[in-house]
Amino acid sequence: MTQSPIADRVLTWFDSAGRKHLPWQQNPTPYRVWVSEIMLQQTQVGTVIPFYERFMARFPDVHALAAAPVDEVLHLWTGLGYYARARNLHRAANVVVSEHQGHFPVTLEAVQALPGIGRSTAGAILALSQSLRHPILDGNVKRVLARHFGIEGFPGDKQIEEQLWRMSDACTPAARVGHYTQAMMDLGAMICVRSRPLCIACPLAATCVARMSGRQSELPSPRPKKMRRHRFAYALILISTAGAVWLERRPPSGIWGGLWTFPQFETFEQACERAVAAAAQSSPTQLAPYHHAFTHFDLTIHPVLVTGVTPQNGIADAGHLWYQPDEPPKIGLAKPVVDLMQLAITTCSV
Ligand code: SF4
Repeated sequence: MTQSPIADRVLTWFDSAGRKHLPWQQNPTPYRVWVSEIMLQQTQVGTVIPFYERFMARFPDVHALAAAPVDEVLHLWTGLGYYARARNLHRAANVVVSEHQGHFPVTLEAVQALPGIGRSTAGAILALSQSLRHPILDGNVKRVLARHFGIEGFPGDKQIEEQLWRMSDACTPAARVGHYTQAMMDLGAMICVRSRPLCIACPLAATCVARMSGRQSELPSPRPKKMRRHRFAYALILISTAGAVWLERRPPSGIWGGLWTFPQFETFEQACERAVAAAAQSSPTQLAPYHHAFTHFDLTIHPVLVTGVTPQNGIADAGHLWYQPDEPPKIGLAKPVVDLMQLAITTCSV
C-alpha cells in the first residue's frame, strides 16, 4: 500500500480504464517520452499521434534530431502550432548530445536546465520513462487537484500554484509512479474534464470537495478577466510568373520564430509600396481578412495579392525564398500562411 491518500484509488482505476497503448508508452525511452510530452503541451492526444509518428520515423533518436536542420524540424511541426516548442526541442537535443554525450539526464535539475522543459514536464519525463518519483502539475492535474481538494483561486497565481505543487507531491506515490503519473493525466483528460466532468466514473468521487458541494463548474477558479488585445497586419502575397510564392524567414524568437511567412506590414500603403518595388504586372488585390487566435491576442491578417512578379525581382538567400507549391521545400510554415497560400492560388486559378 502507498502512503498517498488518493494514489491507491487512482492506480486501481488506471489498471482497468487508463490509457496503455499510446505510441510513446511503447518502448518509453526518455527521448520518446520527452518528444511526446513537448507535443502534448497545449495539444490533444488525438492530434499529436500522427505528428509524433512522423517525427519519430524521421528522428528516431536524439542524435538524428540534433543533426537535423531546424527548418526540417519546423517542417514536421507545421500544423501543430506553438513553434517555440519545436525550436526548443531542437536546441535541447543539441545540448543532450554536446553536454550529456547523448544520454538524457536523470536529475530533475539537469532536465529542467534543458530549453523548453519546465518542472512539470521534467517530472513527467523522469516518472514515465525512468520510474523516478517526481510530482507533476500540468493543466489537467491542476484541475483534478483543485476540484478534489476544493482549492479556490486561479491556479496560475504563484501562491495557489505552490499549494497545488505541495498537494501533488503529497499524493505522488513512490511505487508505480509512472502508472500514477499517466493515470492523473488520463483522469484529467478523460474524466475530470473542463466542463461536465464524469464524476460517476471517477475514482476520487467519494472524497471530492467539488463534487460534494456541487462546485465542479466553479473550480478551478478562472483566470481573472483581462482585455484581449487585437492586432492587425497586412500580408503581401507575391506570386511569380512561374507560380512560386515569395516568403521571408521570421527572426528566431517571437511569434512564428524561424518559420517562413509572407512579408508583413502595418498598413495597406506600405504593402503596396513593396509590391511596386517588386515590379509586379498586376495591381494589388485585397482578399478577405483572415483571423487567427494566439494565446494572448487575436490577429487579423489582411492579405494583399500581387501576381505576375518576375522571379528576378526577389533574390533568394538564407532569409528569403520563392516557395514552389508543387515542389514544397522542407521548411516550417505557420498555419495562416498555409491557408492563405491556398486561398491565393485558388484565387489566381479562377
Ligand atoms: S469527482 Fe468529479 S470533480 Fe471530483 S475529481 Fe472526480 S471527476 Fe473531478
